[in-house]
Amino acid sequence: NLTVDALVYSQYGKPTDVLKWHSYPLPALTSETVHVKFLASPINPADVNQVQGAYPLKPPFERLAESDDTKYAVGGNEGVAQVVAVGDNVKGLKIGDQVIMANAGYGTWRTYAAGPASDFQALPMADNISKIQLATLSVNPCTAYRMLKDFVNLKQGDYVIQNGANSAVGQSVIQLAKAWGIKTINVVRNRPDIDDLRKDLEQLGATHVITDDTLGSHETKSMIKAWGQPKLGLNCVGGKSATEMARHLSANGQYVTYGAMARAPLALPASLLIFKNLAFHGFWMSRWTDTHSVEERTNMVNELIGLMKQGAFTEPKWTPVEWNEQAVKTAVDQGIQGFGTGKQVILF
Ligand code: NDP
Repeated sequence: NLTVDALVYSQYGKPTDVLKWHSYPLPALTSETVHVKFLASPINPADVNQVQGAYPLKPPFERLAESDDTKYAVGGNEGVAQVVAVGDNVKGLKIGDQVIMANAGYGTWRTYAAGPASDFQALPMADNISKIQLATLSVNPCTAYRMLKDFVNLKQGDYVIQNGANSAVGQSVIQLAKAWGIKTINVVRNRPDIDDLRKDLEQLGATHVITDDTLGSHETKSMIKAWGQPKLGLNCVGGKSATEMARHLSANGQYVTYGAMARAPLALPASLLIFKNLAFHGFWMSRWTDTHSVEERTNMVNELIGLMKQGAFTEPKWTPVEWNEQAVKTAVDQGIQGFGTGKQVILF
């Protein structure tokens, strides 16, 4: 009889106030369910927003065990787990399989979970792929993949510009673009050790790295014109740098907003819409997953795993988070502040 340890919340609020440790018995295996053991789960910006109640996707509050008199949601949305028990009638999963969650909103900050096989998606096995790569596969690399594929038919040598280039999504964009022969202009915040960051991103495959404080200058404008104006812009940040980034797109360019790290609205000069005919879109991975088949998602995931096997898609920058209440709460609090130390990943 296994006990689950989970970081849960029963109401929305400041994460350090509302998140709490909860232990409960793992529901018994039935002929239709599997048991999985979590190996690693990241802390993503959206997870924090979700605990704050500020995210459109709200996980269900439910009683996790018969003995619970309170309804809880388990924190986290993404992670990799291993199948440890399989009911007699279950098809498609076996003990030892590594799985990701089939749907967003499935709490992943817990040691074990029980559920039907349809809650999980089995991953192809590969020795040279780390659990960090698998734990962070379903949100950021998939977001980068879709944004590069679904808005512009990019050809070899075409340019894409992105801000937040050092984010996990940004690092994914750099690597996928490199693998597909697409060039990238990568905008990051300036910092004292900018040369180290530039080198890191270039090593990943970035064509050019520039800082957001130079984005509005005439020099940057002529430089980008000389390289080749991007057909696609990816906006992780919002605010001033996002407006300035839009000005560098080529006529008829497509501009996709997927994040708002600066917490400032995206302001757009009318001329970009009227004379340059730029088109502005939003992208949300959860919506894509809801509106596309499991087969399409599987194909994408398998292609990403193929690139990982070849060494063309590496781990994001990450730091380990110990699995205890205080360490995870501290990590959640740091989750969306300041210059990060890379993706924080809970190791169970
Ligand atoms: P990470 O935690 O990996 O990175 C966050 C990045 O944000 C860092 O690179 C950091 O820059 C940057 N940043 C933080 N604060 C600011 C600020 N005030 N101004 C400019 N940049 C800032 O994040 P993810 O890659 O997981 O996510 C990035 C964004 O994308 C989030 O907003 C997330 O919610 C969103 N997202 C959206 C998805 C969708 O489907 N729409 C899917 C996945 C993510 P620095 O390197 O300088 O510290």
